[in-house]
Amino acid sequence: AKALGVAVVTGGNRGIGREICRQLGGQGFHVVLTARDPAKGKEAVKALKGELGPKAGPVEFFRLDVTDAKRIRALARHLESKLGGCDLLVNNAGIYLEGGYDAKGSPIDSIQSEPMSKVRETMETNLYGPLQLIQAILPMMKRRKHGRIVNVSSGSGQLEDMGVGEAGYRIAKTGLNAVTAIFAAELKADPKAKDILVNCMCPGWVKSDMGGPYATRSLAEGADTAVWLATLPKGGPSGGFFRDRKRIPW
Ligand code: NDP
Repeated sequence: AKALGVAVVTGGNRGIGREICRQLGGQGFHVVLTARDPAKGKEAVKALKGELGPKAGPVEFFRLDVTDAKRIRALARHLESKLGGCDLLVNNAGIYLEGGYDAKGSPIDSIQSEPMSKVRETMETNLYGPLQLIQAILPMMKRRKHGRIVNVSSGSGQLEDMGVGEAGYRIAKTGLNAVTAIFAAELKADPKAKDILVNCMCPGWVKSDMGGPYATRSLAEGADTAVWLATLPKGGPSGGFFRDRKRIPW
């Protein structure tokens, strides 16, 4: 059977990204599971193929560190030449650089003591990576006048309803929300891009390596809104920030 379309997911080897790959594959998309570590990525592809039923779309691995501009260009070339383009992009890969704990057991995550090295590293992965990926993949979506882009953000990046967490992470997620809104606004003004929808979402507090074992949500719950946004019908929302399939404040 022909796949529903080509879906690219970053950080697909574990956590929420892996679950997004599983759900999209289950729906029949041709999933390009990307990961920075080839061994982990190939292992995840192998396991997913085993988990997915016979109706699932193909799942393939592509090596991608989202901070590596050369690999981003290589991915774009691969999509163009081998798969005929890209229907949906999920920018999921992310890091959260823990600041450790003070003598009273409180997390050290104040912006007042945030080292610039942590801010820079986090921005490269959580903000500039997704931005460059969108820049690289958007031209093929524009050519086919169709595309869905989902940025996995966080309530920690909210400005109106200030979240909590490590300062560099919060800055980068606020930036990712801004990138979402700016792309969506530009595309809304472009008559050829009416069916390219760009949104961001917060998965909630999810049991993954990042969220930890006390998190309240399963991977499936965390992935749900991202998959929903990735598969929105024509005329769906663009330039929004969502959690549980509902808009949340910026
Ligand atoms: P995990 O730490 O479990 O997984 C992170 C994934 O990102 C891994 O696959 C990791 O790869 C990958 N990654 C990190 N850096 C890079 C890079 N430079 N290039 C490519 N891949 C990279 O996190 P989650 O699954 O929980 O998080 C997924 C997304 O959800 C993140 O954007 C996170 O900020 C967001 N989020 C998560 C929440 C939670 O409670 N879990 C809450 C709110 C938002 P590797 O295995 O090689 O390290």
